[in-house]
Amino acid sequence: VLQAINLHRSYGDTEVLKGVDLTVGKGEVKALLGPSGSGKSTILRLLALLEPADDGEILLNGKQLGVSVATDGSTRPLREAQLAKQRRDIGMVFQRFNLFAHLDVMHNVTLALTEVAGVSKHDARDQAEAMLERVGMAHRMKHYPSELSGGQQQRVAIARALVMNPSVMLFDEPTSALDPELVGEVLDVMEQLADEGMTMVVVTHETRFARRVANEVALFDDGQIVESGPPATFFDDPSHPRTQQFLSHLH
Ligand code: ATP
Ligand code: MG
Repeated sequence: VLQAINLHRSYGDTEVLKGVDLTVGKGEVKALLGPSGSGKSTILRLLALLEPADDGEILLNGKQLGVSVATDGSTRPLREAQLAKQRRDIGMVFQRFNLFAHLDVMHNVTLALTEVAGVSKHDARDQAEAMLERVGMAHRMKHYPSELSGGQQQRVAIARALVMNPSVMLFDEPTSALDPELVGEVLDVMEQLADEGMTMVVVTHETRFARRVANEVALFDDGQIVESGPPATFFDDPSHPRTQQFLSHLH
């Protein structure tokens, strides 16, 4: 279970997250919708431990992340090495594919295994091949990112995150930089992951995907979750005027 409690984050004078609570049960998929600039990427970066919250807590399977808790209950920020260890348990896929351009597909997927997780080259190759198989990219192992379509690159990025065997996968608009005809192949891989029981938080504008795959859909606006509920309720019978307004602009 991934849980965020009362997360706050400001940049200078701008308060971007104004107390966000979010819970994703094990094996569940949460879809986050919301207008540009509402803080969706920021919340994912916090959940991925890429930057610290100003206030609030993040818990994964009951354990508070990003801090060490003393016996008297006081907390201190974790040191970088321990933070890096916790990050391994959280996979992140960005809008832009973020593959290493100078490394081939196999090397992109094995890099963190061999350099961060201390897995042998041989075992890393085996694990990478299995993950590439899973996303339908095993036949492109020796290709470089520039030789792949956007959809293929994004599937490699998913394999690269998955190979670390994370407890949670976070997706930040994984299909919005893709040509329309390539969106489906990435969403298919994500749906397959969800079916296999992966816990996922997905920031997306793909409402059909959210309706079909998510257990819960939330509207994010102005640094807060405005409304959250099962897809049928969220899309067909939203209770908050802001949600109704947002949905009416989608089609
Ligand atoms: P989009 O749909 O366009 O991706 P978003 O919901 O992901 O938007 P964020 O990227 O989280 O929005 O940004 C929320 C607000 O925080 C924006 O006003 C943005 O300018 C600001 N912001 C984000 N990151 C930083 C930063 N590192 N420094 C200063 N301001 C930032
Ligand atoms: Mg964003």
